[in-house]
This record gives sequence, structure tokens and C-alpha cells, in this order.
Amino acid sequence: MIPRVTATIDLAALQHNLGVVRRLAPRSRVMAAVKANGYGHGAIPAARALEAAGVDALAVACLEEAVELRRAHIHCPIALLEGVISEEEAAQAVYQRLQVVVHDHWQIELLQRLGRDAQVGIWFKIDSGMHRLGFPLTDVPRLLDVLRAQPGWTLHGWITHLASADEPDNGFTREQVARFDAALSGVSGPRSIGNSAGIIGWPEARADWVRPGLMIYGASPMPGQTGADLGLKPAMRLESRLIAVRDFEAGETIGYAQSWTCPERTRIGVAAVGYADGIHRTFRSGTAAMVGGRRVAYAGRVSMDMITLDLRQAPDAQVGDPVLLWGEELPAEEIAAQAGTIPYELFCGLTQRVHFRYR
Ligand SMILES: *Cc1c(COP(=O)(O)O)cnc(C)c1O
Repeated sequence: MIPRVTATIDLAALQHNLGVVRRLAPRSRVMAAVKANGYGHGAIPAARALEAAGVDALAVACLEEAVELRRAHIHCPIALLEGVISEEEAAQAVYQRLQVVVHDHWQIELLQRLGRDAQVGIWFKIDSGMHRLGFPLTDVPRLLDVLRAQPGWTLHGWITHLASADEPDNGFTREQVARFDAALSGVSGPRSIGNSAGIIGWPEARADWVRPGLMIYGASPMPGQTGADLGLKPAMRLESRLIAVRDFEAGETIGYAQSWTCPERTRIGVAAVGYADGIHRTFRSGTAAMVGGRRVAYAGRVSMDMITLDLRQAPDAQVGDPVLLWGEELPAEEIAAQAGTIPYELFCGLTQRVHFRYR
């Protein structure tokens, strides 16, 4: 059986990209984000490849994601970026030897309920301006008091998250780093600041630990810059195939709502991939795909199981030919920009129906 849609994942690319992170931040330890099923690439294979390449730690959003990795015999340190949300989760996190990011007082109380001697590895998350999660800067002394009262707790470090690191001209990143440094002045413990954009764009954000996500998968978070521009290798190729090729006369309209009109006699290809696979309806006419090494354009609305392509640039295309949705020759960053979104959402948006193949 030939799968309709295949995501081919190059695990060696993840290891190569980890190397790029290490070259950019040679003095930092690396906590690679494999949350959201490894950004849609498969959390377990991604984690195995990164662990084999010597990553210092992995990061997931929640307990379920971490337990999935532990069940797959991933033994390296794993941090829970959102921490725990119940006493039961707190106990599980300790049992699974997870590092718990603590961002609020209610989470401290959950962990304290495990008892004074419970062995808990924690990171304190400080809000330096993102204003999503984290303790106010002024809470640092109180957090140190909490630590002193919990002899079983190990502090792995202090985390903050950047709001606008993907904007090279936005001085707010420098402001956040300065606030974080000032709040922790004289306080011991490793610091962790940069996500991918921080690592790429801001040397001051490459602290004791870096937390790359997107760049590990070979894509760039910086607008107008692809992963390849930074020496990264895209890890995912998403391909479908043509299941119909037909010519239509000028003036004929294509697909739902007749949103695309043939400007001349036009060869139209139908590829077996749609929004039920993760090609969102925001992929408008004009979005690029590739057939036979040539760039072609989406023509008309994305449907649940199909897209229609203007094949005038690939006149030899035939039924059965592969259609590349994104991959090395067609950067996901570029496709995402055309579709009004970001590569993160393209990768995470792939559905169950997509067949995964690992190299
Ligand atoms: C997801 C996440 C990261 C990784 O972000 P990228 O932009 O994918 O590099 C880092 N830190 C935190 C707190 C995150 O939630």
C-alpha cells in the first residue's frame, strides 16, 4: 500500500542541528525541546536521536509527554516546562525523575505536599517581561527562602523566556536579559534564557543552558531567514502524490467556491493531501509546492483530502508523481509565511493520517 501522505524524517539532521547549536553556544548546556510530539516529528525517535548525540536534557510541556519518553526508555534528564498541575502529577514527576519547572506559588504548594524530604528537581521560572508564566522578578528572595525550607529539593537553575527574540531590531530582548540578570545578582544556580531565536540572534541569551526547539528540527524562527541560511538541515520532508491531472479552458473555475479561475488553458493537478492531513485552509492560491523538481502553485481552496495545483510550470507532470509540500528544496519557513503562519504550526499540525518514515 502506498501512503497518500508521507513525512520523511531525517534523524541525522536533528543530530547535525544539535551540533549547530553547540557551535553557536559552546559554553552552554543544551536542553532540546521535544514537546508536541517532537514538533510533529515524533517525540520518541527525536528524543532517541538527540540522546544518542549527547544532548544534556530534553524539554516537554507536560507530564504525559515525559511519561511517554520514559516508557520508551529515554533516561536523560527531562524538564516539564509547564510544571505539574496536581499533587498526583507532582508525585509522578518525582517517581519518573523529571525536572519540574515551577512558575507559580500554587505549584510550590503542590510539591511541598509531597513532604519535606521529597527529592524534587526544580527550575524556577522568572517572568522578565513575557508575562505568560513565571514569578515576578521581585520574588527571587522568597524563592530562596522556599528552597532553604525544602532540603530535599535540588535547584537545577533559573529560567526565563523571551518574548521578541525573533525581531533583531527589538531591544526588548536585551531589556529582558538585563532584568533577569539584575534579579539574580548574587544568586547562585545556572541560568537559562534562549530559545532558538535567542540562541541565533542574541549572544547575551546564550547562558548556562540554552533551550532550542525549532532549530533542532532544521527550521529558522527568524523572519526572512531559512534554516539552511544558518547551516541547519531541515529534518522533515512532507510529500503526497498526484491522483488526477487534467486540462481546463480559460475561464473555468477550480474547486470549492470557484475561488481560482484558469487564466488560459491550464493543466490542473489534484494531490491527495488536505486539511485533514494538516494542510490548513489558510494555504491560499499561490502557495508553492513542487512537482518533478519544478515549483507549482496551489490553485483554489484546500479541501479535506485534496489540493488542486496549477501545473503550468510542470507540464510533464503525471498521475502518480510525488508532490513536495515542504522539505529541503522548499523550506517550511517560506511555505508558512505564504500561508500566514509559522513553521512551528505546520509541523505540529500534521495529523494521524500522515504516514511517518524515519531515516
Ligand atoms: C518551546 C519552548 C522553547 C523552545 O522554543 P523554540 O522557539 O522552538 O526554540 C524554549 N523554552 C520554552 C519555555 C518553551 O516553551
